This record gives sequence, structure tokens and C-alpha cells, in this order.
Amino acid sequence: MKVLRLENIDAYYGQSQALTDVSIDIKEGEFVTIIGANGAGKTTIMKCIMGLHRPRRGRIYFRNRDITNMEPWDRAALGIGYIPEGRRVFPDLTVEENLRMGGYRIVDRKRLENNLEKCFRLFPRLKERKSQAARTMSGGEQQMLAIARALMSDPVLLLIDEISMGLMPILVNHSLEIVKKLHGEGITVLLVEQNASKALKAADRGYVLETGRITLQDTSENLRNNDEVIRAYLGA
Ligand code: ATP
Repeated sequence: MKVLRLENIDAYYGQSQALTDVSIDIKEGEFVTIIGANGAGKTTIMKCIMGLHRPRRGRIYFRNRDITNMEPWDRAALGIGYIPEGRRVFPDLTVEENLRMGGYRIVDRKRLENNLEKCFRLFPRLKERKSQAARTMSGGEQQMLAIARALMSDPVLLLIDEISMGLMPILVNHSLEIVKKLHGEGITVLLVEQNASKALKAADRGYVLETGRITLQDTSENLRNNDEVIRAYLGA
């Protein structure tokens, strides 16, 4: 089944066009990446999927349901988890409070506690620091927290905007290992990344976004061996 479908999306900020005729398909269980330079429109795609920016043209479907006009919180309730660029944890809340915020929709107490335990198992570091204010955590720890917070709502599809941003290479690799593990457990992943090399190593399939248009789409392996991609994104 298709988890996500973007159909001919055009998006604008005022007069300026950020996305032109963007179509993307993601099947259940895939790990897909969108690579592109600064300002290519990657974050705008994420915002359109989440309902934080309204496209001027085109439709968005989640599990065959048209969500183009749905509110962001209703999209979240359907199973779309979002890890925004720059992580955006609640700085003054503790680690545990941040996680509980991520699961605020879950009314079943037991399920909430189970999810919290699951996060702590996946990220022992967060358990050790559960009473610490999020703002006092390192960049890598905050990225862990942002991922764990998104997991608290049991997402079907995880949207990740620039996991590499502001992290040392070793922490980027660690974060990607965790995302791969989650993918292995059945979560569908869409990762947008400026770090094309790392993204194409982690994902199965990729799209190349250039000034708001999809110019290429292929398996990650083929993209890694594509001369144009090598020249423009892999720094040959
Ligand atoms: P980056 O990797 O630098 O975050 P990106 O690929 O995520 O870039 P977007 O943030 O989606 O790119 O931006 C796409 C284009 O839209 C850019 O030209 C940007 O300047 C413009 N843009 C983004 N947000 C706004 C806004 N709120 N108002 C006006 N223009 C915007």
C-alpha cells in the first residue's frame, strides 16, 4: 500500500514559488530520502506533508486518504510523526516531560507508559537524563530526544528534516543507525537531507530536488553512481 502520495504540488511564499509540480510516492515500509542544496525546498515539502504550509496546487494522500486540507494535528493523529529541522525540543521541560508531550494524544495510560519504556530502552542515555532540562542536553542528545518524542505517538510514517544539522559526523551516523533500526522494525521513513552521501547510504530510494523541482528519482545505489549526483552532491 502507498503510505504517502504527493501529486503535482506547487507551493509559494507570497509571489515566490518554492515548489513546482512535485510528485512523490512512498510505499509502506520504504526508507526514502530527498536530497537537495540549501533552499531547494526540502523543508517546504515537509511542511506541506504536515499541513504547516498549504500548497497552492496539487493533492496529498496518506494511506489513500486525501489529507490536502486536513489540520496538522489531525495528520499527526493519523500516524504522521515529524522531527523538524533544528530538533525543536521544549527547552525548559525535562527529557521525560518532552517525551510525554510527544504522546499527549494517547489516552490509554498503559500504552503511554509502554511507549515511554520503549523509548528509554532504545535510548538509555535519555533514561539516565530523564529529569534533566532538555536545553542542558548536548546537540546529539537533543536529536535523540527529538526522535524519541516523535516515536511516542506510534507513527506509521516518520518525517525527518535534516538529521545531520549541527551534529558531528559520528553523531550523524549514530542517529542514522537508530533511524535504520526503526525502519527495520516497520516504520516508513522520509528523510530530507543536505548531506546526500549519508542520506543515500541509509535510504533505499531517493529523489533529487533542485530549486523546487524533482529532477531525478532512483534507487539510492543508482543515485550514488550517477555522474550528475556525484558532481553536484557527493563532492567528487
Ligand atoms: P535548507 O536546507 O537551507 O533548510 P530547504 O531545501 O529546506 O533549505 P526551504 O526551507 O524549503 O528549503 O526553502 C525553499 C525556498 O523558499 C527558499 O528559497 C526559501 O528562501 C523560501 N522560503 C522558505 N520559507 C519561507 C518563508 N517563510 N517566507 C518566504 N520564503 C521562504
